Amino acid sequence: MVDSIVIGAGAAGITAARELARAGLSVRVLEARHRVGGRAWTDCETFGVPIDRGCAWLHSAERNPWAPYARMHGFTVLERPPDWGQRIGRERLSHAQRARRDADWDRAADAIGAAAAAGRDVPASTVLPSDLEFRPHFDAIVSWWMGVDTPELSTVDFAASDDSETNWAVAEGLGTVVASAARGLDVELACPVRAIDWSGPRVRVTSARGTLECRSVVVTVPPPLLARGEPRFTPALPPEYEEAFAGLPLGVANKVFLELENGALPFEGTTNFIASGTTARTMSFSVRPAGHDVLLAYFGGGYARELERNGALVAAAREELARLFGADLGRRIGRTTATAWAGDPWARGSYSAAKPGFARCRVTLGRPLAGRIFFAGDACTTDTFGEINGAWESGVAAARGVAAALAERVGSDAA
Ligand SMILES: Cc1cc2nc3c(=O)[nH]c(=O)nc-3n(C[C@H](O)[C@H](O)[C@H](O)COP(=O)(O)OP(=O)(O)OC[C@H]3O[C@@H](n4cnc5c(N)ncnc54)[C@H](O)[C@@H]3O)c2cc1C
Repeated sequence: MVDSIVIGAGAAGITAARELARAGLSVRVLEARHRVGGRAWTDCETFGVPIDRGCAWLHSAERNPWAPYARMHGFTVLERPPDWGQRIGRERLSHAQRARRDADWDRAADAIGAAAAAGRDVPASTVLPSDLEFRPHFDAIVSWWMGVDTPELSTVDFAASDDSETNWAVAEGLGTVVASAARGLDVELACPVRAIDWSGPRVRVTSARGTLECRSVVVTVPPPLLARGEPRFTPALPPEYEEAFAGLPLGVANKVFLELENGALPFEGTTNFIASGTTARTMSFSVRPAGHDVLLAYFGGGYARELERNGALVAAAREELARLFGADLGRRIGRTTATAWAGDPWARGSYSAAKPGFARCRVTLGRPLAGRIFFAGDACTTDTFGEINGAWESGVAAARGVAAALAERVGSDAA
């Protein structure tokens, strides 16, 4: 019997397991996929260069624990800011346009912040000023950033999101960094957990490979799966946990990567442009992300979900490129690949986005149950949710909770 079983080998599960091992506890990680990393996934096979199909940016990089981890383990952290929001289509925004857009953003953020401060966790769309000049642009950025459109965006989530605006990439891919942290851990792959029985003093964890017993369990399965009873808990969890699973779905962001002939686009180096400023149903392009010779199109919210469902992500990216740079460009595009995070059976989305009215549930998930069930993952922090730094923090917090609870139990058993 091990001290702890960690369910899921994403960023949260890996950091929880490392912390448990560091505390001298025995730990086993059970992972449903055939790989570690979860939503952190660098694909080096499709194009022969690393492309991050999941997370790519070290957000709040100067205080993101993955940044020193990456440096210490020999990865190439690219400490240059992305030039997001400088170009719409082929045109660079003028200084005056940027100033008006930024003022618009501040008014929008202030309105959302005021509602949150007044305790109103409502759809952000209901509190936005009606006269925003750059409203479609604001809505598009929100969809990429939060994975939801403003009618589904919680005012409290938006206001609580603590981002220092320092963003760094990693040349080898951020997914490679996260996966590397699993080295040396006891991880069983292709092992989906179906049931967790916490009726007795020990927890019984059942997968297709049988049932294991442990003293505690750290569950990092994304909430949309927990809401579907995957895995199933016996006895059923208290209603506030079920409410949290239902109230904390994942928003959707999807990526399309395209190979382009050299010189096909009129840009030098690594750069960024937004396809359109007049509709929220648009995409953001990154030319040579992390310095690699590919083009990335980024989609968010309902538009990303709809295109994924219709198998139309690549076509949408190609259409916009043809509109902006001419139909001939199509002939200069080589291989393409698209993500499908909404339908991913082990995630059901991209990053944590509370439903309006449910941001308070993040605190619930941070609370252990009966000293034996601990939750961790990017839904479990109140200000760094939806990010690998939040996943790290919650993994470490859960592991420390396990260590404290087990130490207490040993103490009371001895007394
Ligand atoms: C397109 C995209 C872009 C992103 N961009 C960024 C970014 O730039 N910066 C950033 O910080 N974050 C970004 N994120 C978010 C970031 O990837 C996640 O917040 C983080 O990886 C979540 O880690 P986690 O461990 O909480 O969850 P996950 O990575 O989802 O890990 C959970 C693990 O549990 C496993 N699992 C599920 N069910 C079971 C089961 N029944 N039994 C066993 N195992 C199970 C899953 O397979 C998975 O490996 C992005 C995500 C996506 C999809």
